[in-house]
Amino acid sequence: SVIMLSKRASLLKPSPTLAINAKEKELKAKGIDIAGFGAGEPDFNTPDHIKQAAITAINDNFTRYTPVSGIDPLKDAVIDKFKKDNNLNYKREEIIISCGGKHSLYNLFQAIFQEGDEVIIPAPYWVSYPPMVELTGAKPVIVETHEDEDYQITSDILKRFVNKNTKGIILNYPSNPVGSIYYSGKLQQIGKLAVENNFYIISDEIYEKLTYDDYTHVSIASLDPAFKERTIICHGVAKTYAMTGWRIGFTAGDAIIIKAMGNLQSQSTSNPTSISQMAAIAALNGPQDSIATMLDAFKKRRDYLIGELISISGITCYSPKGAFYAFPNFNNVLGKTYKGSVIGTSTRLTEILLEDFHTAVVPGVEFGKEGYLRLSFATSMEIIEKGVERIKNAVASFK
Ligand code: GLU
Repeated sequence: SVIMLSKRASLLKPSPTLAINAKEKELKAKGIDIAGFGAGEPDFNTPDHIKQAAITAINDNFTRYTPVSGIDPLKDAVIDKFKKDNNLNYKREEIIISCGGKHSLYNLFQAIFQEGDEVIIPAPYWVSYPPMVELTGAKPVIVETHEDEDYQITSDILKRFVNKNTKGIILNYPSNPVGSIYYSGKLQQIGKLAVENNFYIISDEIYEKLTYDDYTHVSIASLDPAFKERTIICHGVAKTYAMTGWRIGFTAGDAIIIKAMGNLQSQSTSNPTSISQMAAIAALNGPQDSIATMLDAFKKRRDYLIGELISISGITCYSPKGAFYAFPNFNNVLGKTYKGSVIGTSTRLTEILLEDFHTAVVPGVEFGKEGYLRLSFATSMEIIEKGVERIKNAVASFK
């Protein structure tokens, strides 16, 4: 063939969450009625006042290049958010706006990691962290966390993996895929370890506003100035304001890192979309009641979905404290047979569910946890009811 990809590109596979999303859409286009628990995105529409701000931006011809790292009013709205929600003070030069939360993380990793570095990623992890770290030449170091410890990494375990090459740890809470959160005590221990051993804390707080019951989110950066110094927070408007397609992420951290991320943007994407930036200002500064409406619905769906999943014989499920994912344990089912062959893996189970039971889920192995499945409950109750019924039928048909 005349085509020869770079090693980097040839080793890269598509994001499994987005791949399932694409597959789901393909089947739906063929007229197949799929119950989709695939990619995590709120089924709510972007609130009207946010859409209106974008329409106004277009009509006002706010459609040209903006500063590469985002416009000042949006940076100020982000600064206000951190002050108000987390009691954190940032200056404009410590904030950068990027083209979605993934772009924020990608640029951040490119700015701080390189060959020879090790980056600790607690598992279960979000699918794109390891490939994004690998793309910098650094090595992902996967560290298991456990359900009976609320999927929080402990400093005792962490200590065993920290060495002179450790450059950072990626925390994500509320977490995708398990919905775990972190308490201040644990964050204190992790922060101290980062200070003692001089590594960065990458805190992905994109699900900050989506917590249930009595939990309130605590940003690790807010606990100690020494933690803040080495913490970079990645965040965005996608999950909070049902704005996944608008692609606006933001990052807060040291001005030197933020500047380096700006240089990367300057040579690659340039500014995030001008219109989306205006929409994001409306989202952050405008009325916040849409969040409560969404949360209320997510909580009902969570309670229903978890209740149904654990009613299936052999299935257990951690009760998520935040985000909008259920991560049930299907290990007891994997040894069974379907159409004469042993199911064996979460990937195979996912295929069976999609092809024969028209239900889209993401295999746990993609999140570093074989035997589990991830189901997004940011979808309608009707779809959840239908999907749960199909999963029950599937499990009942396994021998
Ligand atoms: N973060 C969402 C998910 O995990 C969206 C898809 C993606 O970017 O991976 O489903």
